[in-house]
Amino acid sequence: MPPAFEPHVPPVIVGERGVAPAVVPPGEDAFTALTGGALQVHLASIVQFSRTSREKREIGSGQLWGRITGFPSGHDTVSWAAGRFEEAGIDDVRRQPFDQEPGAEFWLPLSWEMRLLGDPAFGAGTEDLVLTTAMPLAPSAVPPEGLEAPLVHAGFGTVAELTQIDVRGKVAVLHVTPQGHLVFERGAAVPRARALFERGALGVINVIDLPGNERARDFSNCGGPCFNLGGRDGRFLETVMDRAADAGVLDRLRVRFALETTRRSGLSAHNAIAVIPGSERPDETIIINAHADAWFDGADDNGDGLAVLVGLARHFATEADPPRRTLVFVASAGHHSPGMNGPRNFVAMNPAFADSSVLALNIEHVAQRNLSPARSVAADGYREFVADAGEAPIVAGVSNAAPFLEDLFRRGVERYGTNFVFRSVDDGQRRRRRLSRPRCGDRHHHAGAAALPHQWRGGRGDLGARAGTDGAVPRLLPQAGGCGAAGTAQSAGVGRAVTIARARLSASCFPFDGVNR
Ligand SMILES: [Zn+2]
Repeated sequence: MPPAFEPHVPPVIVGERGVAPAVVPPGEDAFTALTGGALQVHLASIVQFSRTSREKREIGSGQLWGRITGFPSGHDTVSWAAGRFEEAGIDDVRRQPFDQEPGAEFWLPLSWEMRLLGDPAFGAGTEDLVLTTAMPLAPSAVPPEGLEAPLVHAGFGTVAELTQIDVRGKVAVLHVTPQGHLVFERGAAVPRARALFERGALGVINVIDLPGNERARDFSNCGGPCFNLGGRDGRFLETVMDRAADAGVLDRLRVRFALETTRRSGLSAHNAIAVIPGSERPDETIIINAHADAWFDGADDNGDGLAVLVGLARHFATEADPPRRTLVFVASAGHHSPGMNGPRNFVAMNPAFADSSVLALNIEHVAQRNLSPARSVAADGYREFVADAGEAPIVAGVSNAAPFLEDLFRRGVERYGTNFVFRSVDDGQRRRRRLSRPRCGDRHHHAGAAALPHQWRGGRGDLGARAGTDGAVPRLLPQAGGCGAAGTAQSAGVGRAVTIARARLSASCFPFDGVNR
């Protein structure tokens, strides 16, 4: 039997040692707003908003919780950021409310269940079993009486497999093995689920082959009632199917979905803005964004990014270190809430900042660790995983591939000993160095960057390119990067924010986040 879903419990073996410490050159160790310890205090405060959401059963039965834009938890998180900006002595702090766009709907699951049904064919006294890591995916809908059907395993859902598997009238189990991170698997997983519905499946279960028993929300819009299932629960389900098949009773194995949902509109939210005027070029702005909302604990997505954002604002707010350009810090709402896109509303409400910006940075998913298979096997046969000594931000990108920014990034990695790999990619025009793959390009939409005007999102002649030719930028650029620059904040510290790297010592997601990804 798999262990029950345990919120907040690490899904892997964390151990007692952190990752290898960052190299902090002499003279750069006094940035107290940016030590790992200081950032972790912020992170704990941020995660607490999620735990309060859970305790209060903010959404339905309480199976879903988080820092949810349009709800008190989301509001309180952004307000907290504003309070930290003010506490740092920043004079120009703005709370900018906005409404959900007309016609937009926020799909929310209020309660749900995935139940394997017991049957005498499996042995006397066999009982139902609820798989607690099941997670319904937007915008799934299930009849009020539930959806009950036999199970069929569809393998990886390849075309070759599906020519030999009849999924009609059944719930198909799809094995999904993320090759890097769930977000990068959307392009493969969602079409395969949709293909199953086109072939007559009544529902799809994505077995997310990741360590532990987590809930995962990715892979929405899969074409019908879809649930993700945590890796260990998934392994259990697949084992049950194998044994039932061995015993010749696989056709008796049935599952029942229950799902109650709502669609919310007419919600409201707000962004928190902190402006630190530049001392030499106040008419040029650098905009630094982190989304404040999250599903579940969301320590990694994006509690760490928000903690770093707050740390940076507090660091640059000190008189001893005035920025040359104007810095605009944005704790934005609505990354996960349809019709309440925080960055888009920021641009609409602050056109002067957008017009005068020379660089936009997005900070997201910055404190994560590599995982490795453990030597140990649990009693249920599950191969355990350990968090090893390497960090693993999911991606860092310079949206316009500006050589200046890429070089800045490279120097930051070398200077602080952080763990990033460079590679060159021939883009068909000329060879340019890339920071990591996948590159965050114009069409890359993760993070709020998609909401920024096109000129913020890459392409020649855009803001990044301007920064890329401007040698004055690095002083203000502790976090090189453009859109979707997850990991950038932690690792690119050529500028003043070097000690952010220390965050990896203590701000790992694992002490907090057993459920988000
Ligand atoms: Zn995020």
